[in-house]
Amino acid sequence: MKKSVFDIAVIGGGPAGIFSSIFASENNASVVLFDKNEEAGGKLPITGNFRCNITNERISEDDYVGSNHLFVKNVFARFSNNDLIEFFSDLNVPFLKEGERYYPLTEKSKTILSALKKKMIENNVEIICKATAEEVKITDGLYEIKTSSGIFQSSAVIICTGGKSYSKRFGSGGGYKIAESLGHRPTFLRPGLTSFNETEGRFASLSGVTLRSVISLEIEGKRVFKESGSLLFTHHGFSGPAVMDASNRLAVSGKESAVISIDFFNGRFRDFDRFYDTLIEDREKKISKIFSGSIPSSLSEIIIREIKINADLKVGETKKESIMQIFRAFNDCRVKVKLNGNFDEAQVTVGGIATDEINPKSMESKLVKNLFFAGEIIDIAGDCGGYNLQFAFSTGYIAGTNARCVGKTTHL
Ligand SMILES: Cc1cc2nc3c(=O)[nH]c(=O)nc-3n(C[C@H](O)[C@H](O)[C@H](O)COP(=O)(O)OP(=O)(O)OC[C@H]3O[C@@H](n4cnc5c(N)ncnc54)[C@H](O)[C@@H]3O)c2cc1C
Repeated sequence: MKKSVFDIAVIGGGPAGIFSSIFASENNASVVLFDKNEEAGGKLPITGNFRCNITNERISEDDYVGSNHLFVKNVFARFSNNDLIEFFSDLNVPFLKEGERYYPLTEKSKTILSALKKKMIENNVEIICKATAEEVKITDGLYEIKTSSGIFQSSAVIICTGGKSYSKRFGSGGGYKIAESLGHRPTFLRPGLTSFNETEGRFASLSGVTLRSVISLEIEGKRVFKESGSLLFTHHGFSGPAVMDASNRLAVSGKESAVISIDFFNGRFRDFDRFYDTLIEDREKKISKIFSGSIPSSLSEIIIREIKINADLKVGETKKESIMQIFRAFNDCRVKVKLNGNFDEAQVTVGGIATDEINPKSMESKLVKNLFFAGEIIDIAGDCGGYNLQFAFSTGYIAGTNARCVGKTTHL
């Protein structure tokens, strides 16, 4: 019969849970890891289009949203992007860099997962899959974890159940309920790193078109975010890295809708005069053709039609005020958007276990002794670019190393 009493129980076998179990099991502590799926790994295999954008060269608290920026700073002071790269170098996993983003040299997320699984086996972590943790309570100073594969006991518990994103496969939200039953109060939960729905359907016919643009997000008239990136038109609105990063800001604001301003010139023209001087050099060109080669014609047609400029006129025949209108429409195209509310399509969850209920130095609950959290379940969500995996690994490291030193469990 399998042993059912362990020093540390890790609930959830995604990147945060795997890292927690590796560091909790150093110095021969006995560690069990439960995952409700058939295999451990969580969302790791599907990250970065299966290439796994594991971290970023440049990380700061501004790349994250959540209730407390200082929390993120504390986390990375204890386990940084360089520490993560060094950890994997020790496991003979080299990386390649694409801009500031790191990927395994094989460009396969399973390289990362295999290395981590090997390390868990070396450290004697007991991995129990198809085991959903349903209830956690404290009995006689020990945690009792009721799972679909039996009841287990441990001196410490690390909850790493992720969030509600990709909810069909991973995010049941069960971890929040367990945390709540132990006294925690998760903040509101909203989909993050997701798309925007366009409320007026102006660009629905452009689905599939991409264009590098600058996206600014305005919430109640205040600009809260600006980033350049590949903009993807979808059936319902917009996606792409800059939109997804903007979605985190809208999600955390708690507001339903916002306005995005799109600069389709992607910052090429600082002001109208510069635009006008460039355009007027080609007086014979038709208005319908002025952006050929730089902006998809299907997009230009829609915008020029909307502002009711005669596209058959030549630049030299068009009034300066009309050219000003064209400039504004392409440089500051304002669209009302809503957050795509479907957790199944969101890469992360905005909201979670409030950071003021967790000690950032140890990831231990401030409410319940020997209870720890790591990863997406915490009220911190990062931008696209490796920031979320880095957060999952860093918090997993901190939770694992601190859970190792466990004592008798009591409510504080
Ligand atoms: C399509 C996609 C692409 C992404 N690409 C990137 C990327 O390139 N770079 C990046 O940094 N981030 C990326 N992310 C985000 C990243 O995947 C997450 O931030 C990260 O996986 C969070 O790790 P986690 O361990 O906290 O949670 P998860 O990876 O969600 O793992 C949680 C685990 O807990 C298990 N579980 C849940 N409830 C229970 C329960 N009650 N009992 C037992 N087990 C349970 C789940 O089955 C799951 O295996 C991407 C996300 C998606 C959806």
